[in-house]
Amino acid sequence: MHGLGECQAGEPRPPAQVARELVDRQDAHRAIVVSAAGLGAAGLIELAIAALSGSVGLLSDALHNLADVSTSLVVFLGLRVSRRPATSSHPFGWERAEDVAGLGVALAIWVSAAFAGYLSVHKLFIHGSTTDVGWGIAAAGIGVIANQVVARYKLRVGRRIQSATLVADAQHSWLDALSSAGAMIGLLGVAVGWSWADAVAGLLVTGFICHVGYEVTSELVRHLMDAVEPRVVEAATSAATQVDGVTHAHVRARWMGRTLLVEVEGFVAPATTVGAAEATGRAVEAAVRGAVPEARVVRWTPRSLD
Ligand SMILES: [Zn+2]
Repeated sequence: MHGLGECQAGEPRPPAQVARELVDRQDAHRAIVVSAAGLGAAGLIELAIAALSGSVGLLSDALHNLADVSTSLVVFLGLRVSRRPATSSHPFGWERAEDVAGLGVALAIWVSAAFAGYLSVHKLFIHGSTTDVGWGIAAAGIGVIANQVVARYKLRVGRRIQSATLVADAQHSWLDALSSAGAMIGLLGVAVGWSWADAVAGLLVTGFICHVGYEVTSELVRHLMDAVEPRVVEAATSAATQVDGVTHAHVRARWMGRTLLVEVEGFVAPATTVGAAEATGRAVEAAVRGAVPEARVVRWTPRSLD
């Protein structure tokens, strides 16, 4: 969930660039909010028609779309809460709020997958009936169109502002249009007399919900386990050791919410004064920020070389 431009680069940047990044970020946020609103509306329509028609394919697709919307909402909720200033009881701030909210979303997605899967299997074996098939097909059609429109919108904005997150999100929405199409095909099957087709579609779409659940959960676990890309540590280590006066460096990095913390233990000559060690630390900080632009906090600890 990183990469929307929340991370600050370390070097001072020209005001024009800062302004453009702000506009880009606002565009990205607008794209996510507008998309979530559209998908949420489509999901609710599908849910209502699923309840009316007894279609499990449509129900699964509705739950999938609403699950996607809830993950977007968590990103926003997390952003808002994480900006709260640190307090004496939370001296490191509130940045992990997004991960905590993510736990609730992951749970809700897995529960909806289990629910949709159970109803689909149940319907398959009891040969449950589907009514109002025409309405069901129309609702699934709304799901297809909503996801296609959202995919194109996110792709256009994502390419313009060069946001990998948004482009990946667009691909996700494109796949989701297939999921809605699956629900629609199941209902078309029912319309031509294959009463089992809706239950089979329900199972297939449940697979899509499991996919979302897996993605959300694995990302969350990575965050909660303080995982980082190994290249971050490699780049920071080589940047720190290239600074004059640093003979050797131990680097560790961790994400805390949206903040990438980089800790550098640098070995300096024993005769180095505290003032010189501080100055070396400032140079190390600048070098690390240059090598790892997403680093927001760089902590320097000088160590004596013996
Ligand atoms: Zn999805």
